[in-house]
Parts: sequence; structure tokens; C-alpha cells
Amino acid sequence: MRVLIVGCGIVGATIAYELSGDDRFDITVVDRQPGPVEADGAGVCPTSTGAALGLLMAAIAKKEKGRNLKMRLAGVDWYDRVIPELIETTGLEIPYNRQGILMLQYQSDRFEDDRRQWEALMKIRPSQSRRLEIWYPNQIRSVCPQIDVTHDRAWGAVYSPDDRQVHPAILTQALINAAQQRGVKFEFGREALGVTLGKNPGVKTTTGTIKSDVVVISAGLGSAKMSTLDLRPVLGQAIQVTMAEPIGTPGFQPIITGHDVHLIPVNQNPENLDYYVGATVEFEAEPTIGALKPDPTAFDTLWTQACGMIPALESATQVRRWSGLRPRPNGRPAPIIEWTDENSKILLATGHYRNGVLLAPATAMEVRSMLEGVS
Ligand SMILES: Cc1cc2nc3c(=O)[nH]c(=O)nc-3n(C[C@H](O)[C@H](O)[C@H](O)COP(=O)(O)OP(=O)(O)OC[C@H]3O[C@@H](n4cnc5c(N)ncnc54)[C@H](O)[C@@H]3O)c2cc1C
Repeated sequence: MRVLIVGCGIVGATIAYELSGDDRFDITVVDRQPGPVEADGAGVCPTSTGAALGLLMAAIAKKEKGRNLKMRLAGVDWYDRVIPELIETTGLEIPYNRQGILMLQYQSDRFEDDRRQWEALMKIRPSQSRRLEIWYPNQIRSVCPQIDVTHDRAWGAVYSPDDRQVHPAILTQALINAAQQRGVKFEFGREALGVTLGKNPGVKTTTGTIKSDVVVISAGLGSAKMSTLDLRPVLGQAIQVTMAEPIGTPGFQPIITGHDVHLIPVNQNPENLDYYVGATVEFEAEPTIGALKPDPTAFDTLWTQACGMIPALESATQVRRWSGLRPRPNGRPAPIIEWTDENSKILLATGHYRNGVLLAPATAMEVRSMLEGVS
């Protein structure tokens, strides 16, 4: 079966890799960018994957059960299995932080309810092969001395040792490289202009039409132009900084997060001095429809929260700063994985909003099983 994938961010690349192990699929991927997602870009990133921080928040998601939680957990399991394979086959060094996520918890009117919810989740997670721990200020101070536990009245933190963080662009490059080795054809610099329907659907591109048996649209925000989907951009800004001296405990550098602001070590080397801090969540407001731009005030709020949580950041030096757009489905949950209509051979795999890196593997597995059902 010929499968044409439109869009090669993390979602398209993961689908291509997942299908590439199976001889029944003859796969082509087109993307309008001149080449694979670039690592460490600055300024406005042309793809969502190029801007992503790569947090894989699965066990620490405040959900007891359900499809979204299952997809999250499956994502981490897939990466634990596939990343070593990718490193082996491509020789690429894929930064993959396995030291967990520490999420600060703050006093509020409902903090007792919050604590009870976390305690309930702590009891449930072992049945999902995961762990969660509640840490109180003394433990936080001794294990992560870089955190100011008095900032904004933190009452403690939830530590999720089984969650991860990966470098999204390098991971995408590795998936492309490995899929190429398994026979997938990639055509960069080729923009899809629209789908043509019929027995064999096709995609009109800047350099002619490509016929296929099935078309998978995984073009992120660009998917809206190829379908009737209503996807809205949600902007995120982030920064990479370098420190004059190591912070925290060398050898234990988890992701630290508070009020949705994340501090992420760039790598796990004990001498690492570089961190990512991100990301803002900026919605399109009426007066700026179609012209969403990074808001300096949102960045200042992010940076103030980061420095309050980790005071050593005040002396950090900026390495690069960037922004990107997340594809959010309007009025329905993310992500969207469905046929455009009952009889069509056009499959949408898009709208992953804030968790596209985490949800790409479960998306790819679902796409695979949907394609297996096509006669
Ligand atoms: C600042 C920021 C931080 C984030 N942090 C995280 C995080 O920590 N964890 C997480 O899981 N997610 C995170 N995300 C979200 C994540 O980046 C997205 O959900 C994910 O990248 C979406 O992947 P995608 O492949 O669907 O889209 P994209 O990465 O945007 O890829 C779509 C591809 O389609 C191509 N394309 C579009 N239109 C066409 C066309 N007409 N023809 C051909 N090609 C086309 C584009 O060139 C692009 O390469 C973050 C996002 C941002 C902006």
C-alpha cells in the first residue's frame, strides 16, 4: 500500500518510522521545509517541533485514567524502547533525560484538595507501572539545593522518576535517518497545496501531483489548509542560558517545574552549565488574529517565575532565545486522529497542541492500526 505522509515534524517522522518496519507499506514523506527540522534554532521557528522543549509529562499528568493518559504512558514506553535503537542505527547522540520531573506545588485556597489528589494518584500509578513521590521542603532543599522552596509559598513538590525529556529536533532527525535506512522516501522543499479525492487520492504539490493509496496529513498547523479542521496557533517563547558554575547536585539533574515554567538541563554531563527555560503560552487575541507575535511581557513573567524558583538564574547568560507555534484544535481535545470522512483515504494525524512530542508515538501506533484496516 502506498502511503503519502504530508508534514515531517515529530508527528510525521514518528509515523514514517513506525510504519517503515512493515513491508506492506511503501512510504513517501513530503515537507515544505528545505530539510529536516533544525536543532537549536533562534528567533521564530518555522515548525512547532523545532521550538519544543521535549518534556514527556506522562505519570505526572493529573489524570487517573483515560485515553489521553494511556497515550502519554505509551509515548514514554515507546521512547524508552526506540531511542536506544535509533542511537545504535543512526550514530546520533539523542539527549534523553531519564532523571525525572520535579513539579513544585504551591499554597492556594485548594491546596489541601490538590495534595489529596496527588496522594490518590500516588496509589494508582504502581498499577500503571509508574511511581510518584511527594517531597516536602527539607527533602527538596537537600536533593535540589538550587530551588528556593520559600518562593511563592511552595508546600512541597511531586517527583515523577519515570517521566522524561528528549531533544525534539535531534530525535526527529534520527527518526528520519532510521526510516530512510528502512526504505522511506523523503522529499523536502516540496509543499503540498491540497488533496485530490477519488479512488486513489493524491496530493497536489509545488512540483506536480503525487498519487497514493492513502494520504496521512500530519502537517501541524499547516494541516488546516489541507482539510476543514479549525486549528489555532498558541505561541510559546523559551530561552537557553549558560551558568558560570554548575547548579544543584551534579549527577542528579531532573527537570524542575513550577507554575508551568520549566528548567531543563541541556544534557546530563556532570559538567553541564546550560539550561532551557520555557515556555510561555500565548493565545491569539482578537486584535492580532493572524499576526501572533511573541509578547515581551509574557517572556518577562516567565523569566521572573524562573528566577524566583531558581535564584542562581539571575546571573545566567543568554545563549539563544526562540519562539514557535503550537497547533491547538479549536473546541475539541488534542490530538486529532481520524479519517476525513467514512469513505475517504485521507487520514488526519494532527492538532497535538502542547504535547506533540509525547503523543507522537501513540499517534503513530494508532495510525498504523487504522491503515492495517484499509482494504
Ligand atoms: C515553545 C514550545 C514548547 C513545546 N514543548 C513541548 C514539550 O515540552 N513536550 C511536547 O510533547 N510538546 C511540546 N510542544 C508542542 C509540540 O512542539 C507540538 O505539539 C508538535 O511539535 C507538533 O508536531 P507536528 O509534527 O504536528 O507539527 P510541526 O512540528 O509543526 O510539523 C509540521 C510539518 O509539516 C510541514 N508542513 C506544513 N504544511 C505543509 C504543507 N502544506 N506541505 C508540506 N509540508 C507542510 C511543516 O514544514 C512541518 O515540518 C511545544 C511547542 C512549543 C511551540
